[in-house]
Amino acid sequence: MRAFLFLGSTGRWPVVRGGSPRICFSNKSRMSNCIRRAAECHRPAACAPQIRGRRAVWFTIACALAAGSNFAFSQDVHVDLALPTANNALFRDGGGPDFYQYIERDYQGEKSTPWEGGRYGFVRDPKEAGGGIVYTRFHEGIDIKPLERDANGEPLDEIHAIADGKVVHVNPVASYSNYGRYVVIEHRFDGCNYYSLYGHLSAIAAKVGQRVVKGEKIAVMGWTGVGINRERAHVHLELNLLLSHKFESWHDAVHPNDPNHNGIYNGINLCGLDIARLYLALRNNPGLTIPEFMRDEEAFYKVALARSGHFELPKNYPWMITRTPDAQTHSWEVSFTRSGLPLQIQASARQVRGPELTWVKKTSANASDLTINRVTGRGGRGQLTLEGVTAMRLLTWPD
Ligand SMILES: [Zn+2]
Repeated sequence: MRAFLFLGSTGRWPVVRGGSPRICFSNKSRMSNCIRRAAECHRPAACAPQIRGRRAVWFTIACALAAGSNFAFSQDVHVDLALPTANNALFRDGGGPDFYQYIERDYQGEKSTPWEGGRYGFVRDPKEAGGGIVYTRFHEGIDIKPLERDANGEPLDEIHAIADGKVVHVNPVASYSNYGRYVVIEHRFDGCNYYSLYGHLSAIAAKVGQRVVKGEKIAVMGWTGVGINRERAHVHLELNLLLSHKFESWHDAVHPNDPNHNGIYNGINLCGLDIARLYLALRNNPGLTIPEFMRDEEAFYKVALARSGHFELPKNYPWMITRTPDAQTHSWEVSFTRSGLPLQIQASARQVRGPELTWVKKTSANASDLTINRVTGRGGRGQLTLEGVTAMRLLTWPD
């Protein structure tokens, strides 16, 4: 459903980022929910910093009017995802070989083609560690297999936007990324920006700046990029947080010999959440928000970062903040999943010079095998690796 918009004090349509506006509620209980969200988006440094001054007043008036008229617009949309292709086997018992594209594995000389390697998470590169097998390589998205191929075996599946949004990046040159040809769409869900990424495309039918609606065709499935062949053609799909708008200068400083062709939409700057679990959770509970969803993720380590005006996460994702800063605050303690996905941010009085590990989960395997080599140590004791420090510095770059 579409929204009823109003003209603001500027005489222009209000900015609606990340997708088409829509009616936010049709009854009293959903109405109060909408007003609560709108109110949350008014907090300083909260989700919608672009609404300021007189426009903010208009926005408030509109919400007040809405309370009496049973409808209103929403500045952004509630998270509502469609699958990117016609393959919907994810919703039959959570996926399996009908949904996920297999990977080619060679473990100690034994070759196999497990479909599980197409799932999100630590599903690749098994290794014996800590008295068992651990999977050391993290897969930040899901690999969805094709349903249709032509006589030569080329995939024909159309790729569609998974939600309303704006195309913010197109990489048309296959060799410019491990993702091959890829598209990134910015979505604004419940006041914060998230980024869907579609990789290994054969052809792209979207342009940067283009508004798209959920289900709109943006590309055709392919097998461009690294480590893929025609037999294993798939779309690699991610849903991400963005770490820093200063990414390009960080990348130039730490990877001077590795050209970055993809600006801030380089995969290193995009941090993928468990999109398969999100699809399934939204199916059970369509009212679920991403912050609520993230509460079920397990923290694996915590890092203290010196207080910095360049730290974007608390501004871009204010729902992460569990303790707000005050005069005694000298650092932020950030908790991360095993893969480095930030979960919570807490103001702290601790004085630190650079990124410092403050906690890591107790494990028998070395944490380096469990954290894509960002933390090393075992038994609850450890430290950041050089890679870990470098990754953390991106969060407050250029400090
Ligand atoms: Zn993939």
